[in-house]
This record gives sequence, C-alpha cells and structure tokens, in this order.
Amino acid sequence: MATESRTPSAAPDAGRELIRFDGVTKRFGDHTVLDGLDFTVAPGKHVTLIGPSGSGKTTILRLLMTLLRPDEGTIKVAGDYLTHEERNGRLVPAGEKHTREVRKHIGMVFQQFNLFPNMRVLRNVMEAPVHVLGLGKDAARERARELLDLVGLGDRCDAYPTQLSGGQQQRVAIARALAMRPQVLLLDEVTSALDPELVAGVLDVLRDIAHTTDITMLCVTHEMSFARDISDDVLMFDAGRVIESGPPEKIFTEPEHERTREFLSAVL
Ligand code: ADP
Repeated sequence: MATESRTPSAAPDAGRELIRFDGVTKRFGDHTVLDGLDFTVAPGKHVTLIGPSGSGKTTILRLLMTLLRPDEGTIKVAGDYLTHEERNGRLVPAGEKHTREVRKHIGMVFQQFNLFPNMRVLRNVMEAPVHVLGLGKDAARERARELLDLVGLGDRCDAYPTQLSGGQQQRVAIARALAMRPQVLLLDEVTSALDPELVAGVLDVLRDIAHTTDITMLCVTHEMSFARDISDDVLMFDAGRVIESGPPEKIFTEPEHERTREFLSAVL
C-alpha cells in the first residue's frame, strides 16, 4: 500500500511486495516530476494512479519499463532491484542483462497499441514469447490462441492490425502483453486513443482479466468508473507526490484532500 513516509525497508508486509519505490526522484532539466516517491504494491493487487495531467503518473510506468531511469532512489520488482545491482554490499547501477531479466516480470499496454503492422494478429502475440523467452513455436501459438480467445478475438488470428478497429487492436495489445506471462501489467491510459464507442469493449476485457486472474495491475486511467470497479487501491497524485491513497470507495466518496475533491469534481 502507498505511503508518503520515507521510512526505509521496514514495512511490515515487506515479504508481500511485488513493486517497491523507495525515494524515487525523476527530473527533466530543472523540473522535478517525481519527488522522493515511496510506494509499494502487493502481489495480485490492482492499483490505479489518478491525478491531474502532468502529475507524474505515466513517468512511474515508464520508469518501471526502464524507458526512463530514476535520478535518485531505487525501484524493486519481485524482490530485485530494477536498475541497480548489489555488489560487495553496495548498490551500483545495473548492467543491461540484469535489468532485462527483472523487466521480464512486467508487461505494458500503451495508449497507442504499437502492434507490428506487418505481422498477422496471431504472430503479433507469439513473437515475444518465441524470441525473448525462447518458447517453442507450437506452445507459443497455443498460448496466443488462448489469449486471443480471452480478449474475444479468437476468430481474427489471421487479420493484419490495420484490418481491425482501434478497440480490437488494443485487445490484441493486451493479449500480446499477457503472452509474456508477466507478474505485473501496466496500463497507460489504454482507452484514451479510442473512439468513444470502442472504449467499453476494451474496459470489459480488462475487468474480466482483473476479476479472473491473479495478475497485479498498475493502471493510469481517466475512466473513473473502471477505476472504481477494478481497484484495490487508488493513489491520488499531485505534482509528483501521492497526496492521498486508499480503497476506491473511500477516495471516490470521502476524499480527504482538497486537491482530490477538485480533481474528482472535474472528471466525474
Ligand atoms: P501524467 O501521466 O500525470 O500526465 P507525466 O508523467 O506524463 O504526467 O508527465 C509529468 C511531467 O513530466 C509533465 O510536466 C511532462 O511534461 C514532463 N515530462 C514527461 N516526460 C518528459 C520528457 N521525456 N522530457 C521532458 N519532460 C517530460
């Protein structure tokens, strides 16, 4: 669960953390986007990040994908440092191989679906398990078919991405992320590039995954009713800090912080 405290490492549920941010600061030039951020996510939990545009939510997901590196602080995933390694009792910047191994626990779905346009749907989903995990082609094909069934696209395996609607492409992107069997699924405003009539189909698939699997989810969304449905915890961000956190029934109905009330009244 999230906290603003900077107390190091002694959290009572330290053995039950899949993600841990300790004092993470990220700056772009002289703009401090995240300011000594601490939070943890327990395995299997669904945590939603909300807050005004520019408050640092996407930066957190990009740090977890190692598309960005923290300027200060550390991130742990499944007990291992993501961008650091322990050597002779000291923390040093990690090599690429170490970071790649830790990152295998994480899958991400982006706003723009980023499918491979020259590959059919089935191959889009098979590609990384074969080439990154070394899974045999038959096993990868079977896994891909199962996941495409799960997202309601079992009958579109042979289509090319451009032959699908945006909502269908995003559902393929979800299947593709799950094909790596990640422990954590990061969702970055996955419906914001979609035509309004396609949003519900994608959110239904994600609700289904949230309710029927044990995958951990970290989700940035402006879809508040979705956030309310799937979240165990909601973290409210403002200017790179968590200003309030708790279960959705508390954050959405009895927010304590004035900024949370303002934000919710603007988006609800
Ligand atoms: P949110 O997801 O809450 O809208 P972001 O994490 O995307 O916020 O961005 C937080 C701040 O960091 C914004 O002011 C944004 O302009 C800035 N920012 C994000 N990425 C970069 C970058 N690569 N270079 C410079 N500034 C960036």
